[in-house]
Amino acid sequence: MIDGKCLCGEITYILKSELLYLYNCHCKECRAFSGSSMATNATISAADFEIYDDNDNLKTFMVAGGKRHFCGNCGSPIYSYPNGSEEFPSLHIGTISNPPEKVLDANSWISEKCPWVKISDSVTSYEKQIE
Ligand SMILES: [Zn+2]
Ligand SMILES: [Zn+2]
Repeated sequence: MIDGKCLCGEITYILKSELLYLYNCHCKECRAFSGSSMATNATISAADFEIYDDNDNLKTFMVAGGKRHFCGNCGSPIYSYPNGSEEFPSLHIGTISNPPEKVLDANSWISEKCPWVKISDSVTSYEKQIE
């Protein structure tokens, strides 16, 4: 069981299965949403993901790449639905309470990465989206 919460704690979640696929996304959209050089996202099963948001703080922002959900109170990115992936959202894993043992599966959108980010040869990398 994986659990997490946003920075202010208004939004919490549990995930009853493993992280399916872990990747760093360097696309402009993920960088802006995370406020960082890259976003580390994990594909998860929507069926095993439960969000608790008693005060309706979870906000949705629609972008070209899909739906992005964040805490409207503190701004933490929580999860996104890349287009066409309602069953498998991407969890923004900075909100996980105790990150589980897991090896990074891939880097995506390295064509848009920041100059100072070095990509390891041992990790599968995609110029654009994961194929
Ligand atoms: Zn919050
Ligand atoms: Zn991205």
